[in-house]
Amino acid sequence: MLTVKTLAETKTLINQQFGPLQMGSEVTALARALNRFLALEIISNESIPAFDRSTVDGYAVISRDLVGCSDSIPAILRKTGESLMGEMPAQILKEGECFYVPTGGALPAGADTMVMIEFVEDFGAGEFAFVKPVAPGANMIFKGEDLEPGDLILPIGKRLNPADIGTLASMGLTEIEVYQQPKVGVISTGDELVPADISLKPGQIRDVNTPMLEALLQEAGAIPQTHPIVPDLRDDLRNAIRSALSTADVLLVSGGTSVGEHDNLPLLLEELGQIIVHGIAIKPGKPTIVGQIDGKPVFGLPGNPLAAFFMFHALVKPALYSLSSSQSTSEQVQATLTRAVSSNHGREEVVLVRLEEGRATPVPSKSGLISKVSRANGYFLIPRDQEGLASGQQINVVQL
Ligand code: AMP
Ligand code: MG
Repeated sequence: MLTVKTLAETKTLINQQFGPLQMGSEVTALARALNRFLALEIISNESIPAFDRSTVDGYAVISRDLVGCSDSIPAILRKTGESLMGEMPAQILKEGECFYVPTGGALPAGADTMVMIEFVEDFGAGEFAFVKPVAPGANMIFKGEDLEPGDLILPIGKRLNPADIGTLASMGLTEIEVYQQPKVGVISTGDELVPADISLKPGQIRDVNTPMLEALLQEAGAIPQTHPIVPDLRDDLRNAIRSALSTADVLLVSGGTSVGEHDNLPLLLEELGQIIVHGIAIKPGKPTIVGQIDGKPVFGLPGNPLAAFFMFHALVKPALYSLSSSQSTSEQVQATLTRAVSSNHGREEVVLVRLEEGRATPVPSKSGLISKVSRANGYFLIPRDQEGLASGQQINVVQL
């Protein structure tokens, strides 16, 4: 029996059930940490920058010295030295003095602002004329302005991007503690399925889901463990599930999740573990089943590749991210719908879109052909109580 839940209810139940699960951690070289999830928060242990630093080529001065100066009454200051890159100036700037500092160089103690070289006239004999007052802190970054000791730099669970790798390098780190990648078993099931490298007999179809889920898992930062196609035989599927779970942390089975005579997964989940949700009020994706065996999450995805693709994004990816303390899986953007879309199915509906410059064009994908999905780079949901959406309406698109 299908006791159908909404997508939102399903997400809540998955959170309750699997939320407490966490991967262990391991130390990896920074050079290999791209796309891994941080297993500890990164706190600054120093001031960045470590010294008052100029953002222009110009002269460090005391802002008070320039109060009231103008083209007709310039302030004349005496140059007492130059800041060298990579060194701290030894002297302290005093009233009536200026000091040359190149971009990125350290200001001498006592100075509180920078004047760009373009606005300073060299009068000769070490005297320089300033014609415009300048506010304290102009054209410079104060010590600790970016980061003070104790500031949070990167939160636990952050998926490391190239900028994060740079940030960690700037802190002098060469190794970093990250979550272990979840190993995820992938089983496709169906009598009609054949691997891509075998020629099709009439009535057979190619297994799309195994390579597609393998790729989705790689993209999500998990380690896929694929298995041979399993026919619609309960004993075969039971053996395949047991073998997959002997090494995997999470299992994905696609196909055979519905209530038909040849749909074996629901019965096996009841036998080997527990069903959490069977049936989601969404199109496509209704015959989705979520359960657990020995405490390990098992997702039964619909055989329809489009539905499997969407359910991976909507349910599996967030669950995998949560194993590494990460919430954020996909960016959402506002966009204008370029065409009206209708829906009257009494269940939520997924609409794939091509997103370009803030405009979202629906990608028709009625028959569940996966090649259509290749054209899409986002999707949005039509709530189940809504008949459709008009052209020009604002929608929230989840980016793929
Ligand atoms: P099922 O969920 O087993 O009822 O399958 C639903 C539809 O998806 C059927 O048309 C299947 O032939 C098709 N299908 C099932 N598994 C796959 C797969 N791995 N690759 C491509 N199509 C599939
Ligand atoms: Mg089937």
